[in-house]
Amino acid sequence: MKEMLQRVLQETAKLIDVAAFIFIDAVNQLSLPSDVSDLLSWLSTQGFLPLSCKCVISCTPTSALQEQPSPYCLYLDDLSLETARSLAVLYLSRYSKTLSSEQLHQLLHESSSSNPLWLSLACEELRVFGVFEMLTKKIVGLPDTLQGLLGSIIQRLVQEDQSCRVKKLLCLVKCCQEGVAERDLQGAMSSLEGGSEIPTVYWASLRRTLRCLLRTSRDYRGRDTLSFFHGSVAKAVEQCLLSPDNSHQVYLVSMADYYEYNCTDDATVVYQLPRLLQQATLNGRLVHFLRKDPRARTIQAHTRAQYLKAARCFHVCRDGFLRSPAMICGMCSLKTGAFGQLFLNRQSCALCGVHVAIMGKEAFLCPKHFRIGRTECLTCRSPILGLPPPYPALLCHMCGYFETCIAINM
Ligand SMILES: [Zn+2]
Ligand SMILES: [Zn+2]
Ligand SMILES: [Zn+2]
Repeated sequence: MKEMLQRVLQETAKLIDVAAFIFIDAVNQLSLPSDVSDLLSWLSTQGFLPLSCKCVISCTPTSALQEQPSPYCLYLDDLSLETARSLAVLYLSRYSKTLSSEQLHQLLHESSSSNPLWLSLACEELRVFGVFEMLTKKIVGLPDTLQGLLGSIIQRLVQEDQSCRVKKLLCLVKCCQEGVAERDLQGAMSSLEGGSEIPTVYWASLRRTLRCLLRTSRDYRGRDTLSFFHGSVAKAVEQCLLSPDNSHQVYLVSMADYYEYNCTDDATVVYQLPRLLQQATLNGRLVHFLRKDPRARTIQAHTRAQYLKAARCFHVCRDGFLRSPAMICGMCSLKTGAFGQLFLNRQSCALCGVHVAIMGKEAFLCPKHFRIGRTECLTCRSPILGLPPPYPALLCHMCGYFETCIAINM
C-alpha cells in the first residue's frame, strides 16, 4: 500500500508542474488506529511526498497526531457568529432560499450553530422543509445538539419513506465496518426482502434521499461504495434505529446471507463474512465456513485462530482441572480437511487447522463437552476403538496458548 501510494504521488508530480494538494479529511475516522499511525508515518518520511506536493490533514485532537512531526498545526475554533451567519445565508442562497432576519437570528441563537456540521445539517433541513408558514416553528424546534439533530433527521426520513428501505439501508450500512460496495448492499437488501431484486430506479432515489447522511466513494478496486459521511451519523443510526429494540441481528444475518450465498467476489466474502457471523453470534455457521468452505482457506492462520478463540468454550482445562483428552479416531486421523486446511487431520491444529507435526500441544475437553464413560472421535463422533489406533487431537502454539476446552460454543 505504501509503495502504491508513493508511486501514484510520484507519477502525479511528474504530470503536473504546479503544486499538488492532498486533503485527508477526518483521518481519526479510519477504522484502525494503526492505519492512522501508518499513514502519518509514511507522509512524514523524508522523500515520500514529492517536493511539489502538499498535504492537509484534518482530525479531532488525537495523541496519534501529536506523536508525529507536524510542521504546521492549525487548531480550528468554533464558528464565530458572523461566519455562521455567512455560512447559513450562502448555503440557503444556493437554493434561492432566504430566511427573515428574525428567523436567521433564531437559527444562530441555538448554541450548536457554532458547529459547522450542525449548522449545515440544520440549513439542509430548512431547505427541504416545505411549509413556509411553519418555518419559524421548525427553526425553534431544531434539536440543539448534533446527535439530537441527526436523530430527528433520521426519524423524519424514515417516517416519510413508505417502502421502509431508508431504515433498512441505514441499518445495513451500520453493520459494515467501513465503506461497503453498493452492489453488496443491494444484494443484502434484496435478501432482507425475500430475494426480489431492488430496481435501479428505486436504488437511485434511495441514494438521493440519504445523500445528507451517506458518502459515496470508490474503493481501491474501483467499486462504488457507501459509508456514513461522519462517525456521528453511525452513532445516531445506532441510537435511533437499532438500540431501541436491539434489532442488529436481522441486518447482520442478511448481510451474512448475501456474502455467503450470493456474492461472487471471494476476496470480499472472506473479508466480510466471518466478522458478520461473529457479530451475529452464529458460531455454528462461522466454524462451518472456516472449516468447510474452500474460500476460507485463504484466511490467514492468525485471523482464523482469533475467530475460533472467541467462539471457544471458556472452561479451563489446565493440568489439575477436570478434563479429558480430545481424540481423533484412526479412520479420521488419516483423512484431511476436518479443520479447514488440507493437512492430515492428526497433523492439523484441532481448532484453526494449521500444520502441527511436532510442536503441537494436546487438546482437552471440559466435563460438559466430554461424555463421561465414552470416548468419541472429535470429528466423526463415533466411539473410539483400538484399531486403527486413535490419535490425540493437537493444537498449534496460537490456539494452545489458551488452556481452555476446545469445544465451540454453538
Ligand atoms: Zn490453531
Ligand atoms: Zn467445554
Ligand atoms: Zn472419526
